[in-house]
Amino acid sequence: MPETRATDNPNDPYDPGCETFATDMESLNTDIIGVWGWDPDDAIGPDDRILFVKTEEGTYNKENGHFLCMRCYVNEGMPSSPEGWKCP
Ligand SMILES: [Zn+2]
Repeated sequence: MPETRATDNPNDPYDPGCETFATDMESLNTDIIGVWGWDPDDAIGPDDRILFVKTEEGTYNKENGHFLCMRCYVNEGMPSSPEGWKCP
């Protein structure tokens, strides 16, 4: 096993549920439009998706860069904790 796994790179948040990196997760565009109020015609790129997860995604774990998209979060049974649940 390589010493550093790509999935542990906090610079590109990773969803271990659907095994997708934020940069590739085009479904985040809908969230960006909704939460940030961006125009649907705006070009939303990988850097925007990374920043969105880091600043807006409640499940984002800055220790290992993991987060869950809404679908995976629901699949996990919508876990919660008093401090705010972070994806392990
Ligand atoms: Zn997911």
